[in-house]
Amino acid sequence: MQNLYFCTVKSVNLRILAFLGAFWLLAEVSNAQVPPYADQHLELHVDLAGTFVRAEPLPLPDPSEPAMPFAWKTVSNFAFGKNRGQLTMVADLSALHPYFRDRVQLLIYNCKKKGIELAIVETYRSPSKQNEYKAMGKKYTRSKAGRSKHQYGLAIDVVPMIDSVAQWDNRTLWRKVGLEGEKLGLRWGGRWRHLYDPGHFEWTGGLGTSHLALGMMPRVPNAQLYPCLQADIAELRQWWHQWDEHQMRELLEENTAVAGSMP
Ligand SMILES: [Zn+2]
Repeated sequence: MQNLYFCTVKSVNLRILAFLGAFWLLAEVSNAQVPPYADQHLELHVDLAGTFVRAEPLPLPDPSEPAMPFAWKTVSNFAFGKNRGQLTMVADLSALHPYFRDRVQLLIYNCKKKGIELAIVETYRSPSKQNEYKAMGKKYTRSKAGRSKHQYGLAIDVVPMIDSVAQWDNRTLWRKVGLEGEKLGLRWGGRWRHLYDPGHFEWTGGLGTSHLALGMMPRVPNAQLYPCLQADIAELRQWWHQWDEHQMRELLEENTAVAGSMP
């Protein structure tokens, strides 16, 4: 009889827990409008968002804010103490391929667990921005527009920070970050001999830029977790396109301003 009593109490507790759980889930779903996931992706996102909210690597975007790309977080030149050209940089994880984005969130989280804070320098990069780097010389990039993984949302540039100061020259720190990225299956630019680029991480699932330029996208390893991948990517591509056009206008305005200031 006593056992039965405990059973009943337990199940009541469980019911309360289940009720609270369902309430929490509903609240989370209504908060989880994080573009550019397609609607069907929300359920999965709730799991991810829960994980990352607890991990606190980044605040979730405010769902009341307008859709991308003009709500994307951006940074301007010299934001991290280096000349990165005049055109604005997108520093928003939402602009990345969904699978790669989740890997990067894990990288940020895992580094944070080890006491390393990462700042996001650049995620998606327009063809105009890529050409700007190309024109700035080999120290910046050897790739022209369309040849960098950044143009496909499959690359990111980060920098470790100590007391709000970017640690560009701290090789020990870079190595720790690089190894964390490699553990997650990311390709790390700190291994490149011709252009040592330790802040750069990318993932292409084995595809080259020639494949990506043809419109191919990598096969994700755990496809069952990304049931709406095609829809997500289609939506992302629209936003990339809008950003590209926006940045072409930015470039035009800049050129006009330069031409206007000439004697
Ligand atoms: Zn990069």
